[in-house]
Parts: sequence; C-alpha cells; structure tokens
Amino acid sequence: MQLVTSRLDAVLGWARKYSIFQYPFVTACCGMEYMSTMASHYDMDRFGAGLPRFSPRQADLLMVVGTISHKMAPVLRRIYDQMAAPKWVVAFGVCTCTGGFYDDYSTVQGIDTIVPVDVYIPGCPPRPEVVLEGFMKLQEKIQKEARGPWHMDEEGWGRFVPKTEK
Ligand code: SF4
Repeated sequence: MQLVTSRLDAVLGWARKYSIFQYPFVTACCGMEYMSTMASHYDMDRFGAGLPRFSPRQADLLMVVGTISHKMAPVLRRIYDQMAAPKWVVAFGVCTCTGGFYDDYSTVQGIDTIVPVDVYIPGCPPRPEVVLEGFMKLQEKIQKEARGPWHMDEEGWGRFVPKTEK
C-alpha cells in the first residue's frame, strides 16, 4: 500500500510541477526582466509555466515582481487570499525580498511580512538565468509537497501545507 501511495505522490508532484499557472503581480522595473524571461528565448513552456493567468482564482503561483509599497500591501494580500490551495509565492528581485535600497517609510521591507514566500530570487533585477533557477527550486518544492491531506498552517497565513511538513 505504501508503494502505491508513494508512486501516487510522485505522479501528483510531477503533474503539479509541470502545470504552474502564474499570476504576475508586477509593480516596478523588475517587470522588464520578467517580460524578457517570459519571452520565447527562455522558453518557459518547458517548465509548464508559459501561460500566465490574470485571475487569482485560476492561478497557483503568485509571482511578486517589483517594489511593494505599504499602500499596495493589502491588495497583494487579497490577491493571495483569493487563490485556491495548494498555492505558492515567489519573490522576484531584491525589492520584494527585502525592500532593497528603498529603506524608507513607504516600502514594505520584504513581502514575507504579508504573504508566505516559497522561493526568493535575488538580484536588481535578477537575470533570467537566476529566475529559471528559482523556478527549478520551486518545482523541487512542489514535487516534495505532492500529496495532502492539506491543513491550515499555524503561522496564520491561511496557507495549506502537507501534514508531512509538521
Ligand atoms: S530589484 Fe531593482 S530592478 Fe527590481 S524593482 Fe527593485 S529597483 Fe527595480
């Protein structure tokens, strides 16, 4: 029985990691690099992530690209809440990871104070090769998290995580 369920895990993980639907939350100059990464030269289709969705209800990856201001923070959180589980978040660029050099009153000092982040992609802006590496890290994580039963996490994010993570 264990053999069957572990095979099922592998199949589910494989299917999920190659069918990522991104919601691009793009606010600033990192968007240019994001667009170049999504262009044909880097072929995001080979990761199964070439088709962005502009409705959070049809997306499972929140791609946060660019500086997030405190005024924008509740919007970002609402978008995250509207996505169905299982869902993942990528912080694209140093501004989303830490606030970058915008160490001021108006900028969120890292989006992980608003939503849970699965992969951080550093750089200002990150090169497409770094973004692709971040995608592969995310795919590894999705593969490991393949099977439920899912439960609400204890950090109050409203995120569903597999029981095995506890
Ligand atoms: S990390 Fe650099 S390129 Fe990206 S949004 Fe911040 S300042 Fe712009």
